Amino acid sequence: MKTEFSLAQLADPDIAEADKILRACVHCGFCTATCPTYVLLGDELDSPRGRIYLIKEMLEKDRPPTAEVVKHIDRCLSCLACMTTCPSGVHYMHLVDQARVRIERDFSRPLTERALRAVLALVLPRPELFRASMIMARLARPFAALLPAKEAATPGLMRRIKAMLVLAPKRLPPPGPSGGSVFPAQGEKRGRVALLQGCAQQVLAPRINQAAINLLTRHGIEVVLVRDEQCCGALTHHLGQDGDALARARANIKVWKKEAEQGGLDAILITASGCGTVIKDYGFMLREDRDFAGPAAQISALAKDITEYLAGIALTPSSQKGDVTVAYHSACSLQHGQKITGLPKELLSKNGFVVKDVPESHLCCGSAGTYNILQPDIASRLRDRKVANIATVKPDMIAAGNIGCMVQIAGGTSVPVVHTIELLDWATGGPRPGLN
Ligand code: SF4
Ligand code: SF4
Repeated sequence: MKTEFSLAQLADPDIAEADKILRACVHCGFCTATCPTYVLLGDELDSPRGRIYLIKEMLEKDRPPTAEVVKHIDRCLSCLACMTTCPSGVHYMHLVDQARVRIERDFSRPLTERALRAVLALVLPRPELFRASMIMARLARPFAALLPAKEAATPGLMRRIKAMLVLAPKRLPPPGPSGGSVFPAQGEKRGRVALLQGCAQQVLAPRINQAAINLLTRHGIEVVLVRDEQCCGALTHHLGQDGDALARARANIKVWKKEAEQGGLDAILITASGCGTVIKDYGFMLREDRDFAGPAAQISALAKDITEYLAGIALTPSSQKGDVTVAYHSACSLQHGQKITGLPKELLSKNGFVVKDVPESHLCCGSAGTYNILQPDIASRLRDRKVANIATVKPDMIAAGNIGCMVQIAGGTSVPVVHTIELLDWATGGPRPGLN
């Protein structure tokens, strides 16, 4: 794609990066076929190619985006299916991330929209506030039926509040272990890792990291929950609030680097792939920061999805489970963001599960961070399509590697939705998951 940035514009490293990305696009349109919003809405401007063109115009003309441009960028899930499909290697993720920051800076959203985004950015990354909000949402849940179920093209505040109430769990588990906890290896010590505590996950499903701790320590790996660790920044990053996201990235880099220097770390393990995709991108996000560029790249190199780490360990199966058929839901952040596709399924198969691929597995379930709150109608159409596809393989359980997908899919099915690590823990001596 031909671009027309001025030399002055190209002096900005972000614009220079955008220019490189835009020039790689050859308009072929292959990406449209796998873009969930294009598949659902059929509008070129809701396709990757259409959005790339809108972003190009916005950046080149260097003027505030129109409401129309914002509408189509907001509808993008950042699922990155387009990156997997693109034959020219267009790095759509870095382009749309930049567009979101620009929109946040230059576009004045309606007051209710700004208020909602501010509340999400305040509450979601803080487990104690998120916990309190989930308790309040649970109390308000009976009133959700009184709120509108569907609105015109752009959902309003009431529809979004309804989406939040519907997503709130009926009950909350007690909190898991806190930062600063160390779980010693059982038997001979073979390694030492940090485990990302996460923010929403530690409130909604502390059992996931508990399963990871149980499995790792059982296999000789010491696990540390690093003190003063924060939300990875993914949630505010995807809202275009990069000041907050980068501050969180820097704070995490400091504490993880200190832990690596003092106690040694083989890896920083992540059980929520949405977080993993962003932590692996810290090196890029902070590339222009003189003090943090090097450490950020080191931390990104240490970050691993838990399945990547487990691939290097000989797991010792212990339980007799019988034939359990598992539909493996491939989270977008894992398959498109981190290019981890076969590994989780191989681990499950090797450990005795009958693993089934889900038809249209490249399509997002509609969770996508805060997307299912901000774009509830598209999100629920994608969820219903995902659940229908899962039902065709008649699973006993559904496995995924990302809490957002788990909550989203669980809202549309009675089949237990569990994390891949819970199944692997069960196969190697842990409790049967899906009963809590
Ligand atoms: S990230 Fe997903 S929703 Fe956005 S343009 Fe790419 S394929 Fe479409
Ligand atoms: S597939 Fe790649 S090169 Fe083709 S239009 Fe989409 S982004 Fe551009």
